[in-house]
Amino acid sequence: MLKVNPPPEYPPEPGRYTRGNDFSPAAVCVILDTFDFAIPPDLQELVMAGLDAGAALAGMLQTENVGLEKVLCNIVANPNIRYLILCGRESAGHLPGQTIMALKDNGVDAAKRIIGSNAPTAYLANLPEDVISRFRDQIVTVVNMLTRPGATDRSLPGLNMNSVAEAVRACYQESPAEFMGYTLYDMGACTEPPIVYRIAWKLAQTWGSDQLKKTEVSWLAISKLLPGTDCKQCGEAKCTAFAIKVAKGKRRADECPPLLTSEYADLRQALVKLLE
Ligand code: SF4
Repeated sequence: MLKVNPPPEYPPEPGRYTRGNDFSPAAVCVILDTFDFAIPPDLQELVMAGLDAGAALAGMLQTENVGLEKVLCNIVANPNIRYLILCGRESAGHLPGQTIMALKDNGVDAAKRIIGSNAPTAYLANLPEDVISRFRDQIVTVVNMLTRPGATDRSLPGLNMNSVAEAVRACYQESPAEFMGYTLYDMGACTEPPIVYRIAWKLAQTWGSDQLKKTEVSWLAISKLLPGTDCKQCGEAKCTAFAIKVAKGKRRADECPPLLTSEYADLRQALVKLLE
């Protein structure tokens, strides 16, 4: 069975995850539906259960844009990872779980919006096409164990440590194993070489010299780094309206109150870099 050594840069993106067995076919993604300074113990235990069972990476995902981009970067850098196990509770605001399923099924459109995602800002604008298409090819199955938003019953598979461990172990089997309606086994590494890409490289690039194009791209890029909840706290009806005014210099990004909370720290940092 083909297994490969990940490159020295693996995993290229930092984040809220832990590296486990590099040769494992499974990565565990626990959806974080709370502030990142108050991570519930039940979600932390799911990460540990995945790691203990032998996952290559196990960690938390909060946002359907920059957070998801980091997940993709880290997976395509290790061709041994063939399964992505989703667990925890879906986040009602960002819908990262539904967005990952839509990405696997449908890909992105010309604007790099994830087709079929119901999330407000499901854009992978910082990733090149080859990273996105590789993710969709390399991950043969997204094992969806997510529970509904707000669920707390730890007997549900998506919130149950034993079930998460069982899912990881099923991915390890030499012969096909049935798990929650999925047929899982270790088919070996993706035959394509690893891709090492950091979204910081894209964020550091300057826009082109065409002023019109610059304006069009800027508001879209800004929009995708806003919370996307259309909460109206900034006085605008929609985040996109706020983004357009920021792009035109009529509003400041720090006039979006939710963006100043720790829940959106990743987005805030990316937006600061973008506006620099
Ligand atoms: S305050 Fe922020 S999140 Fe709320 S509508 Fe305005 S830009 Fe969007």
